[in-house]
Amino acid sequence: MIQNTVHVVVLGAGFGGLELSARLSAALDDRIKITLIDKNDAFIFGFSKFELMFGRQGREDVSSYYRTIARPGVEFRQELVTSIDPVLRRVVTDKSSYDADVLVVALGADYDFGATPGFAEGGHEFYSVAGALRLRDVLPTVTSGSVLVAVLSEPFKCPPAPCEAAMLLDTYFSERGVRGKIKIGVVSPWGIPIPASGPASTAILDRFHERNITFVPNQVVTAIDPTAKTARLRDGTTILYDLFLGIPVHRVPAVVEASGLAVEGWIPVDKANLSTRFPNVYAVGDVTSAPVPKAGIFAESAARAVAEHLIVRLRNEGTATPYDGAGSCYIEFGDHRVGRVDADFLTGPSVVAPFTGPSLETAAEKGEFASSRRERWFGG
Ligand SMILES: Cc1cc2nc3c(=O)[nH]c(=O)nc-3n(C[C@H](O)[C@H](O)[C@H](O)COP(=O)(O)OP(=O)(O)OC[C@H]3O[C@@H](n4cnc5c(N)ncnc54)[C@H](O)[C@@H]3O)c2cc1C
Repeated sequence: MIQNTVHVVVLGAGFGGLELSARLSAALDDRIKITLIDKNDAFIFGFSKFELMFGRQGREDVSSYYRTIARPGVEFRQELVTSIDPVLRRVVTDKSSYDADVLVVALGADYDFGATPGFAEGGHEFYSVAGALRLRDVLPTVTSGSVLVAVLSEPFKCPPAPCEAAMLLDTYFSERGVRGKIKIGVVSPWGIPIPASGPASTAILDRFHERNITFVPNQVVTAIDPTAKTARLRDGTTILYDLFLGIPVHRVPAVVEASGLAVEGWIPVDKANLSTRFPNVYAVGDVTSAPVPKAGIFAESAARAVAEHLIVRLRNEGTATPYDGAGSCYIEFGDHRVGRVDADFLTGPSVVAPFTGPSLETAAEKGEFASSRRERWFGG
């Protein structure tokens, strides 16, 4: 690089895009122009979908509007990205086109609802805002029967989320006085709920045992039959359900697939600085195949690493710290209590992920985590 004023185009204003824009703005406001593009008008935390699903908050309550971003040098555009040329670093949207000096792809993961037979017709999900809002209307009608929360394929966002949903459902049905007539089960692709953290997995399984929630390990659901109300597992056996909550098949957004950036499904990146194989093109978060789980905290720490790397390059001084793949992940345990895993995927020879047990204090800390991000990303 690089000229005096650098045009950084950030595609996607989720955890990764917002963190990157805020950090670059704070460090380099007079030398950098940041165009941040997202098809939506507002950011919603992934975990806010639980609030929507249980009717504890409405869409308006959990939305942070992009038009309120007040960060120097950051210009937000609500546009749909329709094409990305990673060689020319040229982006076309439904309204305009952009030539970037540095292009950062932070478009997250999309869902392929049609990939699982029967799911689009007869399943429910809480991974999209629309799905969570549909469930908000369905859950109050459930008074008995079997509720199955099942992973449909890997990878998927937020590894604890299926188990969190089960523990929150347990509390929800208990508070409504119908829990005794409802069975809750989780189908997981892994032997334990969160492979990265033995202690967190033990705590989840203890809670499942205490609350009579079934854990079906080492399976995914490959199809459902909405008429017979059966879910087929990959070993060919079936489970009966009355309400099916699936974690949908994930994929890169179609525009990323068409760009040639993805290889074997996801964008490969240098794990130290998140650069792609195209010069001055970076990718952060769920859209990549970086060796970390798909979660907001890792998108955020990846954005931090890219920001530092770009700042070092632009100032031509210092050394950037390599991506640490680290962050704190909050886990809903039900009864309004939250636990925390402090994961570090990349700095040591193996993953380190100590666990802090569920408490009301950590639930309050999760609230502070969210407000600190809103403050940092939106300013004002
Ligand atoms: C139920 C649930 C609970 C979760 N809980 C947690 C948690 O407790 N902690 C945690 O760390 N993570 C959690 N997550 C995961 C977290 O939400 C995601 O991993 C995180 O948002 C990924 O960040 P990202 O920046 O990669 O992508 P996203 O935050 O998904 O951002 C991508 C952005 O790109 C935009 N976009 C996509 N395609 C286009 C296009 N063609 N044109 C324009 N814009 C486009 C989207 O609108 C979106 O705003 C949870 C997820 C779910 C579903």
